Amino acid sequence: MIQVPFYSLDYVERDLGSSLAESVDAVIKSNWYIRGSRCSAFEEAFAAYCGAKVCVGVGNGLDALTLMLRASIQLGRLQQGDEVIVPANTFVATVLAVRAAGLVPVLVEPNPETCVLDVSRLAESCSEKTRAILVVHLYGRLTDMPAVCEFAKSRGLLVFEDAAQAHGACGVPYSSNAAAYSFYPTKNLGAMGDGGAVVTDDLELAQVVRSLGNYGSVEKYVNKYVGVNSRLDEIQAAILLAKLPHLDSWNARRQQIAARYCAEIKNPLVRVTPGPQNPKSHVWHVFPVFCERRDELQKFLKARGVETLIHYPIPPHLQEAFSGAVVRGELRHSALPIAEKLAKTELSIPMGPSLTDDQVSYVIESLNEFA
Ligand SMILES: *Cc1c(COP(=O)(O)O)cnc(C)c1O
Repeated sequence: MIQVPFYSLDYVERDLGSSLAESVDAVIKSNWYIRGSRCSAFEEAFAAYCGAKVCVGVGNGLDALTLMLRASIQLGRLQQGDEVIVPANTFVATVLAVRAAGLVPVLVEPNPETCVLDVSRLAESCSEKTRAILVVHLYGRLTDMPAVCEFAKSRGLLVFEDAAQAHGACGVPYSSNAAAYSFYPTKNLGAMGDGGAVVTDDLELAQVVRSLGNYGSVEKYVNKYVGVNSRLDEIQAAILLAKLPHLDSWNARRQQIAARYCAEIKNPLVRVTPGPQNPKSHVWHVFPVFCERRDELQKFLKARGVETLIHYPIPPHLQEAFSGAVVRGELRHSALPIAEKLAKTELSIPMGPSLTDDQVSYVIESLNEFA
């Protein structure tokens, strides 16, 4: 029996060796830990990597989402109480951020095949209060951005991206207002603690995000906004700077593994999501499979040493945190049978740059033996 952990960070040591420790040591010796040269250097490098004008490092992905929305409110582009369309099958942070900014999430069914926002449902989901769309590139798959942006343009809506699972996914050129990233350790680009960033072409928005994350001050001890403390520290920035040059090759390995999973998992009881037309538009943060007997499949794989997780077992609208929210006008949605079905049938199988070819073959073999 081969043991296959769900995810392992062994590849970081394999590919970076002692250079990471040296980068961290240089920060320690510099005696400068917040708002220093590493953070600026990483912001510049990550903006360039994303093909955007500017990146603002913040404390984590939830803050990146929240501050991007709050900055839009400060600039008068959104108002508290405005509705923001969000896919119903997302990690709870997306919905929490919209609420934290004083906006109303409108949960919309995903496309059951791709699991990202179903663009054909946008029109019916809008009300006169809808002002923005916050897409989630779930599992690392880019949402159909040209279609989303075209729809948004026709209705005068803003477009934001939750790119916390999609570092390095690229498609055709498009322009959202801003994208939020998380550098939680297990993301495709992860720090060794918390970290996040807002990436945008909008210099004005970036400046407001930066001051909101620094107590709302523009100049030291002069507070323009009611801000928070949310900054990317120098140690995390140094780690991210060292890892960034490897991101494309790590994503390429994920794409290679996904291609094998898509081609070789051949069990009528197990559905895989289709690979995208442009392979680079999916960075496979997670490889989901869908099975009516999901819990049985999970046990079966566990008995064979294959570890799996569920992303996510309870969709946001069924969480206790949001009970009564619809009645209070803090959340809007109609019946969400597709999102609920995905939550009941999804299983994430091992994925990541540490996986060996033998492990991949073993996972495929095990899935094909499930009956
Ligand atoms: C991880 C994640 C977040 C939150 O990021 P944190 O850094 O953990 O706050 C938000 N949205 C999605 C889709 C995520 O996967």
